[in-house]
Amino acid sequence: MNEHYEFVNIPLPYAYDALEPYIDEKTMHLHHDKHLQTYIDNLNKTLKEYPQYQKLSLEQLIMNAGELPQTIRTAVNNNAGGVYNHQFYFSNLMNQSNKKPVGMLAEDIDTTFGSFAEFQKSFKAAAASVFGSGYAWLVVDGDGTLKIVMTPNQNTPLPHNMCPVLNIDVWEHAYYLKHYNVRADYIDDWFQVVNWNQANENYVICMEAFYGQQELKFAAFQ
Ligand code: MN
Repeated sequence: MNEHYEFVNIPLPYAYDALEPYIDEKTMHLHHDKHLQTYIDNLNKTLKEYPQYQKLSLEQLIMNAGELPQTIRTAVNNNAGGVYNHQFYFSNLMNQSNKKPVGMLAEDIDTTFGSFAEFQKSFKAAAASVFGSGYAWLVVDGDGTLKIVMTPNQNTPLPHNMCPVLNIDVWEHAYYLKHYNVRADYIDDWFQVVNWNQANENYVICMEAFYGQQELKFAAFQ
């Protein structure tokens, strides 16, 4: 995700109906083509008169939002977050037969949470408990461990020095057409379409970054 202004809406890496029957085609159309598009349009509109920030990536905009002029700070934070969170969400979905974590992530979920079933229970409880709109995340925390965290609205875990492995969008627009008000059913269905290969790739990247930072810290003491 090292794109920058002028941001474009990257097509889904699968068909709109690919996640049926768990996440419906109409929701995917609206979610990607309308909701995400609006964040992209608003982010571009916000940055239009600020060429000095047009080379910044989404991550850089999010991480440095506090340094931006007051007039655009909130808009950049909300809309860059909205683009980042949605691109991350869509990229970690796939309708496949494998419904379980794989690789190093599978091992470390077992070590950290006891078992995949225990992890699912905790993650579902976290996603269900997000008040109003937001996300639940599996992240690698600054100490190199897996954690489940929640963010409100379009905030991201990035400014908290957390590296995202997986997220679930629990804004009502993500599930209302199919699951109505029953967020718990949507969370169960979402678990059927998690792309665990992608999540494991994200995890490996997070851990490489973590150990890279540790080496830098260690070198500083030499
Ligand atoms: Mn959404």
